[in-house]
Amino acid sequence: MSLQFELRSNPKPHSESERDAILADPGFGLHFTDHMAVATWTAADGWHDSAIVPYGPFSLDPATAVLHYAQQIFEGLKAYRHEDGTIWTFRADKNAERMIRSAHRLALPPLDAEDFLCSIEELVAADVAWVPTAPEQSLYLRPFMFATEAFLGVRPAKRVTYCCIASPAGPYFASGVKPVSIWISTVYSRAAPGGTGAAKCGGNYAASLIAQQEAASQGCEQVVFADAKEHCWLEELGGMNVYLVTTDNELITPELTGSILEGVTRDSILTLAPEFGLTPVERRIAIDELLEGVGSGKVTELFACGTAAVMTPIGTLKNDVGSYQVGSGESGETTLALRQKLLDIQYGRTEDTHAWLRRIL
Ligand SMILES: *Cc1c(COP(=O)(O)O)cnc(C)c1O
Repeated sequence: MSLQFELRSNPKPHSESERDAILADPGFGLHFTDHMAVATWTAADGWHDSAIVPYGPFSLDPATAVLHYAQQIFEGLKAYRHEDGTIWTFRADKNAERMIRSAHRLALPPLDAEDFLCSIEELVAADVAWVPTAPEQSLYLRPFMFATEAFLGVRPAKRVTYCCIASPAGPYFASGVKPVSIWISTVYSRAAPGGTGAAKCGGNYAASLIAQQEAASQGCEQVVFADAKEHCWLEELGGMNVYLVTTDNELITPELTGSILEGVTRDSILTLAPEFGLTPVERRIAIDELLEGVGSGKVTELFACGTAAVMTPIGTLKNDVGSYQVGSGESGETTLALRQKLLDIQYGRTEDTHAWLRRIL
């Protein structure tokens, strides 16, 4: 039996003027809508108690398992308002499938894809007034699941909470599409072979923050990680996959080795590449090969990609040896063209030839 997400309306929603003020300048991840989707899983009863409820704090016992052993996963996707007012998600089925894979890795109970999609659709329907109308803005959706059993023993929890919250989002980087500088971390790793790198779990982010701090202290905006075993293969950023464009018209991204998160944006770009005369390639890329290619001009463009920021050009790479400018240091032509194509599909401005959109309202 699939779950129902019936609406229990918030008796105290934001006023229209409060909401308008937020939507005028939403930022990213700062403001939340009036409702959230919730469901509970217990070992005895499976998933139940699902509903759309007023947005608000959880009350957690200090012994709640997630606070001690980090049994937690999440997803990130967006609802887009098209010119005609209709509202759509982009490849949400991919997020549903990935959440099931992440749940498996973290020994959490899978939530059926159908229930995941239903929770999102009912939440967006309840808070439809929060889906921005301004160009390039969207309603960011954050489904997550965590162990709520109050128990300090170490084993998979017998009580788990699923929740989805929604947040109106302007551009992820306040400065707009501007090339970022990236620190190549060789001291810290994000994920190790056999670890949780391919799962979207908070713990991976916790492990990445010190490297992000290191990047900032080196004057860089983001950090890119090498593999944890040899420290010489390019992997990804803390929350974005990475691509390079070469003079051979290859669009190359590190192959999925188990310690790289399989991004929906990454996959979409692989699919779109041939439409731009580019050969999509998934293979191992040595950091040395990257730096040599950037130095010789063979690597013409470098960019990061993920749902939140879509595609971000990388203008400069830096490590403890030196600083390397990618191409002209400006946003690359291919990067900008692919980015525009993705946005045009997401916002319904071009034909959705891959059937990636799903109408919510
Ligand atoms: C979410 C995430 C990405 C990007 O995935 P998308 O599905 O494209 O948003 C990349 N790397 C990591 C580590 C992530 O958590």
